Amino acid sequence: MTTALSTNQMMPTYKPHPVSFVSGSGSTLFSEDGTAYLDMVAGIAVASVGHCHPKVVQAITQQAGRLIHTSNLYGTHPQRALAERLAGISQGKLSFFANSGAETIECALKLARKFQGGSRNGFVAATGGFHGRTFGALSATGQLAKQAPFAPVVPGFTHVPYGDSGALAAAVDENTAAVILEPIQGEAGVVVPPDGYLTEARAICDRTGTLLIFDEVQTGLGRTGYWLAAEHESVDADITCLAKTLGGGLPIGSCLARPGIAQAFEPGDHATTFGGGPVQCAAALATLDVIEGEGLLERAVVAGESLRRGLEELGEVRGRGLMVALDLGRPVAQSIADGALARGVLVNPVSSTAIRLTPPLVITDEEIDRAVQTIGEVSREV
Ligand code: PLP
Repeated sequence: MTTALSTNQMMPTYKPHPVSFVSGSGSTLFSEDGTAYLDMVAGIAVASVGHCHPKVVQAITQQAGRLIHTSNLYGTHPQRALAERLAGISQGKLSFFANSGAETIECALKLARKFQGGSRNGFVAATGGFHGRTFGALSATGQLAKQAPFAPVVPGFTHVPYGDSGALAAAVDENTAAVILEPIQGEAGVVVPPDGYLTEARAICDRTGTLLIFDEVQTGLGRTGYWLAAEHESVDADITCLAKTLGGGLPIGSCLARPGIAQAFEPGDHATTFGGGPVQCAAALATLDVIEGEGLLERAVVAGESLRRGLEELGEVRGRGLMVALDLGRPVAQSIADGALARGVLVNPVSSTAIRLTPPLVITDEEIDRAVQTIGEVSREV
């Protein structure tokens, strides 16, 4: 028996919650009154293997019964195994484990400055980009509305229009430590850059000795049909940030850097008490096993195509794999989200005109049909 919980004792950083959940399975969440909701949000692109996947639950419970925390003063087997696993999908990069996406960005920015040294300390990022809410990540974020209330942000960041390689080339100079980009912008409303943009960014960085950081916190680990979204253009970053999907719902991220760059860090340069704890790492290993074992990269491609096709007649559809936005071109996104919620489907109003759909990669064809039908009904009404 559960009772409705008040959020009165919490800081008002979120709007009042329209519903509270008590359990979940696959692509379904169950509310306090037992109503089932089809989850097309997946905890904002986190629950990629579905809610409470039995293999993830088993890994967490087994590890929790064995060892929960040691700090990073000591090693654990799950942490070593996860670093090895992530090296395998990132062309041999070394991991720094963090507790969130924003913290992986902090690590990336600090590492880039330490590696480059001297006056080469500037960063070039993209307008509309989102990298998190801590001060370094917020400073990289190209959204003035999110920065302005907290000014001054960290100096040294220049923002250029996303997808415009000419503007990027013009902004990068001998004082630039690194370029930081999302391979597809998520919070900006699922903005896919023109083909060739990531390749151009790589070439600009190579020409100028600048590091290339890809923020794959949202795009990484299968969401777009690849382990890393940059693989779409076969581009390898110097530093890649992962989080969200990684822990199967537990908080863990990894800042991955090429060994020759990672070696710029010495003991004491950067640290975290909780990052890469054994329970989070065990959950991550199980999550990666499920993505691989259940063919979820392929599933993201096939299911994503069918979702995008289903939405096409309703408005502009953007995205790749199961990272999708439907833009109605009118400020109706919140009304669509409210209407869909009332019909038992969760969607995310990512801007005033667009809803974002990042469902679990295990979503079934029937569930996609239901989401498309519901979004269609609601968008015709608003
Ligand atoms: N980078 C990207 C691309 C994101 O989408 C997000 C979160 O939405 C972050 C960084 C920040 O991650 P976190 O909220 O875990 O700090």
